[in-house]
Amino acid sequence: MTGVTTLSLAAMREGLRARKFSAVDLAEAHLAEIEKTNAHYNAFITITRDKALDMAAASDAKLAKGQGGLIEGIPVGVKDLFCTKDVLTTAASHILDGFKPPYESTVTQKIWDAGGVMLGKLNMDEFAMGSANLTSYYGLVVSPWQKVQSAECRVQSKGENDNSALSTPNSALVPGGSSGGSAAAVAANLCPVALGTDTGGSIRQPASFCGIVGIKPTYGRCSRWGIVAFASSLDQAGPIARNVRDCAIMLSVMCGHDAKDSTSMKLAVPDFAAALSGNVKGKKIGIPKEYRVDGMDAEILAMWDRGATLLREAGAEIVDISLPHTKYALPAYYIVAPAECSSNLARYDGIRFGLRAGDAGDSLTAMYEKTRAAGFGQEVKKRILIGTYVLSAGYYDAYYKKAQRVRWLIAEDFRKAFEKVDAILTPTAPSAAFAIGEKNIDPITMYLNDVFTVPTSLAGLPGISIPGALNKDGLPLGLQLIGKAFDEETVLNVAYGLEQAINFKTIPLGV
Ligand code: GLN
Repeated sequence: MTGVTTLSLAAMREGLRARKFSAVDLAEAHLAEIEKTNAHYNAFITITRDKALDMAAASDAKLAKGQGGLIEGIPVGVKDLFCTKDVLTTAASHILDGFKPPYESTVTQKIWDAGGVMLGKLNMDEFAMGSANLTSYYGLVVSPWQKVQSAECRVQSKGENDNSALSTPNSALVPGGSSGGSAAAVAANLCPVALGTDTGGSIRQPASFCGIVGIKPTYGRCSRWGIVAFASSLDQAGPIARNVRDCAIMLSVMCGHDAKDSTSMKLAVPDFAAALSGNVKGKKIGIPKEYRVDGMDAEILAMWDRGATLLREAGAEIVDISLPHTKYALPAYYIVAPAECSSNLARYDGIRFGLRAGDAGDSLTAMYEKTRAAGFGQEVKKRILIGTYVLSAGYYDAYYKKAQRVRWLIAEDFRKAFEKVDAILTPTAPSAAFAIGEKNIDPITMYLNDVFTVPTSLAGLPGISIPGALNKDGLPLGLQLIGKAFDEETVLNVAYGLEQAINFKTIPLGV
């Protein structure tokens, strides 16, 4: 079965119902692609071939009877942060060696109940800490995108979707992070949709780097139960897909109240895809002046301006707004997130989960120390140290409490802005994907990746990234739309309208 892996989720669904192919055909085709390319991309930590084929056969049986859920028979990749019953769940950390959860996360359970077929567990930054998928214990992920000498040659030589005549690629690029495996897999057609999580940008930034779509819903939309915790007041699950409609379909499956997560909201789940008209007439779109940071890449500015122009031409009203505390978001995030991580990661003690290091005669303390020293990578250790420091008796008020106050001010900025506008348009990230090894030695530059995504996370608001343009190297740049709390419908609908106006068609070169 060739050709099916490039279809959208919506087209796969139609094909399944029209019996053009079976769910087993779809699973086989994707597994073949994964097995052919995983040595290169390293997008999957675990490939669940047998499970995928069993689930697909069960879907075919349901489809044959005219039954089945919203995504019956659709192959899905799962970020390895979601606990999956009896399937290795690593959070890309050595410390979770061999951990096979005895339970299923609420979000993945919803996916399987709706007919999703599990292809495997996707690589990521260790414990979701990172912006480039360079911190995984299971090795880095390679993006399917490559730089080309001239973006024009890509489009003009053979047409938008044919990259075969391109100049030789240079060094490999990162897919973004922390959901780097999810984004690379979707961009490389290894799965039509994948699950990601976003604490400060980890769905939106990799979607931007990989030229695809990813939405972080409002904090409280999806249950966090069974998702390995990084920073509990920020973590949210969300879908990554190749277009807005597929994200909308997935989001309707993923969300909903869960008694097992006290922060999940008791709200009806809209049919997000049904709300997609693309009509933005009369919508007020805010452009925050504080996001025009000094030294901003001219191509990103141009993409942002063009996005605003396209929305205006489609009938939206563009409104200048101010989010005055934006510049404090990144420092506040890098206090709050490590603080919560230091607390959440205290549970990895060598007793309850995964790895245990040390020798037979060791004291309990020595076993803890050796396990944590061997089990956590550098980035995770750094964040545990920062988090422990900002929560310690002498510094709690000076750092953690102050960061919480700043967080409230940032949320207030958004609240006031949303009195005037329906959605906010910004770039997703300050750069295109960079080469592996380019930024990993400089943590500040790495943390700057999140400058446009972190404020939304601190305020708990929904944000989507869609491809905005190609830069001069032929790499995708993302546009972000931010919405009011629990107004994913507007976010998705404006994104859908903009997606049609931009008509971004370029696909990555691949292996
Ligand atoms: N890049 C950010 C960080 O390293 C965000 C990560 C995330 O959203 N999980 O913390």
